[in-house]
Amino acid sequence: MPRIAIAECKQEVSTFNPVPSVYDDFRQARGQAVLDYHRQCREEVGGALSVFDAADDVEVVPTFAASANTSGGVLTAESFDHLSNDFLSSLAQSGKVDAAYFSLHGAMQAENENDPEGFLLQEARHILGPEIPIVVSLDLHGVLTDRMLEHSDAIVTYHTYPHVDFFETGVRAANLLLKITAGQVRPVTARVKIPALVRGDELITETGSISECIQLAQAIEASEIGLSAGVMWGNPFTDVPELRTNIIVVMNGDEASAKEHALELAKRFWTHHEKMQVPLTSLEDAIREASAVTTGTVVMMDAADATSSGASGDSNAILREAVRQGYCGRLLAPIVDPAAVQQAMAAGIGATIRTTLGGALDPARFKPLKLEARVHSLSDGKFQSESFGWQWDAGNTTVLEAEHFTIVVGTRPVSLFDRSWFYANGQNPQHFDLVVVKSPHCEPHMFADWCAKLIHVDAPGATSANLNSLGHKTCSRPIFPLDEGVEFHPVAEVFRRL
Ligand SMILES: [Zn+2]
Repeated sequence: MPRIAIAECKQEVSTFNPVPSVYDDFRQARGQAVLDYHRQCREEVGGALSVFDAADDVEVVPTFAASANTSGGVLTAESFDHLSNDFLSSLAQSGKVDAAYFSLHGAMQAENENDPEGFLLQEARHILGPEIPIVVSLDLHGVLTDRMLEHSDAIVTYHTYPHVDFFETGVRAANLLLKITAGQVRPVTARVKIPALVRGDELITETGSISECIQLAQAIEASEIGLSAGVMWGNPFTDVPELRTNIIVVMNGDEASAKEHALELAKRFWTHHEKMQVPLTSLEDAIREASAVTTGTVVMMDAADATSSGASGDSNAILREAVRQGYCGRLLAPIVDPAAVQQAMAAGIGATIRTTLGGALDPARFKPLKLEARVHSLSDGKFQSESFGWQWDAGNTTVLEAEHFTIVVGTRPVSLFDRSWFYANGQNPQHFDLVVVKSPHCEPHMFADWCAKLIHVDAPGATSANLNSLGHKTCSRPIFPLDEGVEFHPVAEVFRRL
């Protein structure tokens, strides 16, 4: 009966968010609590457990699971040391195991480590020894590094964006791990580096040109000797040395075929890369265009302050421009501002407060906006995500009404890639003329399918799709679109453990 260790460590970081992430930002579980949590939610570990539980000869050994409540700034050195020590010591205490499955993200960064996942895998390999198969699942926004490839047997990655295949990715990883453990397959990985950082609608797997690459990856994976294949375009905001797009193909024993497929996928991706940018509308034009729409709801995608990509969530840029232009429609916007929430709590429901909103966390980008507002509601900020039923916590939360502007104000950032935070605070986006959505994309039924107009706004922020505005210092250059005339000379490198 194989004993299989299971561990998790996930966060996505924006280097450009000045607010550091800390240990307490992570939901954590140890031992049996890892199973109790993951058996009831559809994430990667849950998917893997569904496979292991169905195989009646597997003993699962849960060790440590940590996942950040939302994305954020670079993790402090002390917090990373604490987290990695928890991860590695619980693995070391798990006794002799025959295999390990790790659910990682790939776009972490710590003050003292540019490749946290690579470090965890290197140290896990030391603990487990060279013979023990390790399969890792990663977000396709993960920054795939040499160390991750050198210290694992195979990588499995998401195939969807917006992501809807967390569970299925865990299923694929677990099935592959069982095959390796049983000696049925011998994985060989080919990786092609692509000098490109990409964003935008072309990356939506249902409708964008990326679908051609993803379908090809899935066909390779499903082929007779295919084990895993994927396109990892990385998180362009995690400014680390190995940030770029990567293709991986894992085949059973056949190095030449792995290389050939990886090169084909990479070339296919490169033919589309120039389209993979976001046409952005200036703030001034965006509000002017919204004012001209007389029926239906205008949705403004503010990807620059996308909390799920690592931004601070305290941008007031759209709100400020709406005030400046005297926008007279009903506006709904989310923002993080702990002091404003405290003031509203002290004043109570129905009271009118004079406060400021925005610039609480990222004052170099956003200046506080003064306004007078009525406290419409207060809550403890705990709610359930409509997407996957996850429990989210924005801290104490208030809804403020400043004339025809309704602003949901939280104490700390939460993911805003769906409508949950609006719904949890009694706000239906369809009842407004203008809704600010702090995410690059949402599933289409949430906004795009019904809104009158959708505008991608060029606002400042730590996760701006205007990548040239961010000031990358660390990633290897030249790289599209930060540099002109970038050339691509595809090379397939091979990683094989045994
Ligand atoms: Zn992602």
